Amino acid sequence: MRQDADVIVVGGGLAGLAAAVALSRAGVDVIHLAPSAPPDRRTSALMMPSVDFLREGGLIEDPASLGHALNAIRIIDATSRLIRAPETLFDAAETGLSAFGWNFGNAALLAQFAAVAPAALQTRNAAVTAYRRIEDLGAVTLTDGSELRAPLVVGADGKKSLIRTEAGIGTREHHFEQAALVADLDLGRPIGKTSIEFHYPNGPFTLVPAGGNRANLVWIEREEMLRQTQAAGPEALLAALHERSHRLFGSITLASPSFVFPLSTLSVEQAGRDGTMLVGEAAHAFPPIGAQGLNLGLRDVADMLAAVNAADRSLPDWALAASADYARRRTGDLARTGGVVDALFRSLLAEMLPSQALRAGGLWALKLLPQLRRQAFALGMGQR
Ligand SMILES: Cc1cc2nc3c(=O)[nH]c(=O)nc-3n(C[C@H](O)[C@H](O)[C@H](O)COP(=O)(O)OP(=O)(O)OC[C@H]3O[C@@H](n4cnc5c(N)ncnc54)[C@H](O)[C@@H]3O)c2cc1C
Repeated sequence: MRQDADVIVVGGGLAGLAAAVALSRAGVDVIHLAPSAPPDRRTSALMMPSVDFLREGGLIEDPASLGHALNAIRIIDATSRLIRAPETLFDAAETGLSAFGWNFGNAALLAQFAAVAPAALQTRNAAVTAYRRIEDLGAVTLTDGSELRAPLVVGADGKKSLIRTEAGIGTREHHFEQAALVADLDLGRPIGKTSIEFHYPNGPFTLVPAGGNRANLVWIEREEMLRQTQAAGPEALLAALHERSHRLFGSITLASPSFVFPLSTLSVEQAGRDGTMLVGEAAHAFPPIGAQGLNLGLRDVADMLAAVNAADRSLPDWALAASADYARRRTGDLARTGGVVDALFRSLLAEMLPSQALRAGGLWALKLLPQLRRQAFALGMGQR
């Protein structure tokens, strides 16, 4: 039967592009299906293990040429709850590192990954409309009706993944009433290399360092409230930003339009099977709390690469074994990270006194106990 490549990667977001480039750099014959999409306006804080993976794989060189270091995280309880948490500063120096990680613009990362793609990588501006398995091969149909076949199909086609649906991989999903509003801001007083999180009853209001006076805003609130503020115009939005940031950073101006992203959680019963692997948001999604989404997506890519490298590609059914191996490798990390982020998000929103006490107590414990802080750092950074 005709085979067009060893692997077809579907999806041109950061997870798909990283997967396609990493496989191609490892000498695997890859077709990357990346239909043109609107510019990705998000930014991603990547923790040091993710940055190290990108460096070792040759996807980035010097992170300083692309992004901005995150040396500290300051948490301010801005709720009027009965039991409030202490203001807490986490400093990377305590872990012996110069930074927790780096904050990158997603568009800049995409351009960087594309720039280091080997000439052998075949990229097509085409979406997939159907996916089926024929014996040991995966067959994807493109918008023009043509069909491509490869033993392994990697679905990196986002939260609504067609590859996941057609592969029959079940999901659990929950939609929150909260959304995230993102925008680039210029601040009167810069935040340096410290990420600032104000915790409000409906979610955190976070300013992430973006160099000089610039910060990337990630504001989680009820979606209806965010959309109303956005629709009221830039002046109303700025007034809300000044109030939410307690006017600690002087006069704020908008350096980009604002965008609202609805929030949900999604987990899969398995990250791979029968010659299909799911990476990035096709396999997991959750609110941007503790900056975990793309970090987890890059760990998917690392395990996908390991599973492909470990397979004997001279065997006709190698992709079936590799996808089962991949699912095994991902099980623990996906369950652990999804569980931690879910618990964290719900604890931030919880209005019940016992959860307020637990959360405030947790932050006091983190503030006072060095060993616990180190363990929390390791968990947050996704160290395995
Ligand atoms: C507000 C916000 C802030 C965030 N901050 C952070 C952070 O600080 N740190 C962090 O680690 N993560 C963060 N994340 C999460 C991170 O942005 C995502 O995990 C990551 O960008 C997902 O990448 P992806 O490639 O999996 O999915 P997407 O970016 O959704 O890409 C999916 C791609 O698949 C394509 N596609 C869809 N259907 C098809 C089809 N049928 N055929 C072909 N192609 C198809 C789409 O065009 C798209 O290009 C944040 C998320 C949000 C919303």
